[in-house]
Amino acid sequence: MKAMVLEQPGVPLQLLEMPDPIPGEGEVLVRISACGVCRTDLHIVDGDLPEPKLPIIPGHEIVGTVSGLGAGVDHFKMGERIGIPWLGRTCGCCPYCKSGAENLCDEPGFTGYQIDGGYAEMTIADARFCFPISGDYSDSEIAPLLCAGLIGYRSLSMAGNNSVRIGIYGFGAAAHILTQLARYQDREVYAFTRPGDRAAQEFALEMGAIWVGDSDQVPPDELDAAIIFAPVGSLIPAALRAVRKGGVVICGGIHMSDIPSFPYKILWGERILRSVANLTRQDAKDFLELASKVHIRTRITEFALEDANLALAALRAGKLTGAAVLIP
Ligand SMILES: [Zn+2]
Ligand SMILES: [Zn+2]
Repeated sequence: MKAMVLEQPGVPLQLLEMPDPIPGEGEVLVRISACGVCRTDLHIVDGDLPEPKLPIIPGHEIVGTVSGLGAGVDHFKMGERIGIPWLGRTCGCCPYCKSGAENLCDEPGFTGYQIDGGYAEMTIADARFCFPISGDYSDSEIAPLLCAGLIGYRSLSMAGNNSVRIGIYGFGAAAHILTQLARYQDREVYAFTRPGDRAAQEFALEMGAIWVGDSDQVPPDELDAAIIFAPVGSLIPAALRAVRKGGVVICGGIHMSDIPSFPYKILWGERILRSVANLTRQDAKDFLELASKVHIRTRITEFALEDANLALAALRAGKLTGAAVLIP
């Protein structure tokens, strides 16, 4: 099979011909039809995240069909369409796994980080962490739901049911999905972009934001919650200043630059600052059900698998509208 492989962080991915993987016990072999490009891939490729397995095939928004079953896998059929997400395995026995917080597992394995992922023609995965994908979505359209959509969903859940005015900092793949979900729930979205990024602001309005502005602007109304998808620590004080007393600021990305110091008074008033880390299988189940009800439509730009470095460069430069998807 063909795969785009990271041999060393900071170096472009290499197109390699590799042996087809063989599923072991409990694993499925998947012929990949689409794999989304997530900002976390960029952090792994750029060396922002520590100790990836090397060499590694990145990619954790994988859609494909089952083309081989390892021993003991009986809940998938050959030819079935399935998704493979970021959470690739957990230990099943740490206090987090046992309490329903498997996203915080002490010994996890993540797809495209410790486990070879989807920038390839084929992959294998632990069947217990894959899920069936039904519905009328094309393979490319659904790929961004598997991480960008899911992390947006989990972030919005953290905002609480009573939060109506939601600020979103950074308007890319996760934000455009989340805005559709928030509107469905009768919430109002205030979208903040890089200063002067008119294209992203137009996109946010098109998706249903009621207000758009630069990330250093103060919104016209106090927000109930703010969700930050841009990996920029200085947005945290900006978001704290924009939320009301008792409001919550949620960091939805996996990696952020350092947070500058800020006066205590912007946290005062029982404002809450928290991160969202990874996802549980239950999140995926709940979100995919909801996504088909909401009829979420994703905006995607397709790239050939061989052009993965171009897709990553476009994401790094903020030149994508919506999400990039690799097609092998
Ligand atoms: Zn665990
Ligand atoms: Zn991701």
